[in-house]
Amino acid sequence: MPNAKACLTFLGTGGSRFSIMHQLRASGGLWFDWRAFPVAIDPGPGALVRMCQNQPSLDPTTLEVILVTHKHLDHTTDLNVLVEAMTGGGFNKRGTVVVPADAVYGFEPVLHKYLQKKMHRLETWKNEGAINLAGNRTVKSVPLTHHGVECYGIVFQENGSPLWGLIPDTRFDQEWIEHYRKCRLLVVNMTLAKERSHLDHLSPVHVSRLVETLEPELTLLTHFGRGVLKEGPEKIAENIGKGKFRVMAARDGMRVDIDDLLIEFPDTNNKQPLCSTSL
Ligand SMILES: [Zn+2]
Ligand SMILES: [Zn+2]
Repeated sequence: MPNAKACLTFLGTGGSRFSIMHQLRASGGLWFDWRAFPVAIDPGPGALVRMCQNQPSLDPTTLEVILVTHKHLDHTTDLNVLVEAMTGGGFNKRGTVVVPADAVYGFEPVLHKYLQKKMHRLETWKNEGAINLAGNRTVKSVPLTHHGVECYGIVFQENGSPLWGLIPDTRFDQEWIEHYRKCRLLVVNMTLAKERSHLDHLSPVHVSRLVETLEPELTLLTHFGRGVLKEGPEKIAENIGKGKFRVMAARDGMRVDIDDLLIEFPDTNNKQPLCSTSL
C-alpha cells in the first residue's frame, strides 16, 4: 500500500428527501479508494448504478468495506445489493460492514438477516471507538445527534493519524468538533441553506464555525437539500471561505486525491490545484 493513491469519488451530492426523490443531484454516497482498498460510504439510492456508470467504472465486487453513518434511506437503500456484490453474490465470504447498531438490531433494521452471515466481518460503531480495517487503516467514530437514529461521523486514520474526516447529517454541537482536529480534508453534509433549529442538519453558519475552528486545508460540501441547490452550493461555499479558507461545493462524479488535494471533475481531465481556484 505505500505508494498507492487515496482517492475519494462523490457518487452523489444530493441529500434530504426532496432533493433525492427528484434526483436533483445523484445520491450514491462516496467511494473511497484507500490505497488499493476500496470502501463504500453511505450507499444511498443509485450507488450501485453510479459505480458502474463512473468513468472509469468502480467495481462493486472489489469492495473491501462498506461504512454506514446512519440508517436513513438516503444513506442505505443500496446497502444490501452492495453487500451481495462484495461477497460475490453471497458465495464468497469476505469484506467488512460497519453500521450503527440500530441499523441491524433495532426497530426496522436495514441490513437483511440472510446477508449478515455472508460477509467476513460485521461491526457496529462504538462511541468514540476506533475500528481497524486492514494494515494501518483505522476508522474512528464520532457520535452525533440526528433525528432519533444512531449516527456517527468518521475520521479516517493511517498509523493513528487523521487523514480526512466525514461529518454526515447531524445537529451542530461544539462537543464533536475537536474529534476532527488535524484532518487536512473535511467532507461536510451541508443539507440546509439556512439554520433551522428544529432540524438536525448543518447549514452554512455551522460550516463557517467548523472551518474557522479547525482550519482544514480543504473543506468539501455535499448532501445538498433543495434550498442549497436553489441558492447555489458554489456561491454558498465561496461565502463560507471568504477568500481565507478553501471551501468548495462537491459535484456528482468529482474525484479528490486525498494526499495532494487535487480535484478532478468527471467531464474534464483537467486537474486543478485547489489553491488557484478558490483562494
Ligand atoms: Zn441524509
Ligand atoms: Zn439522515
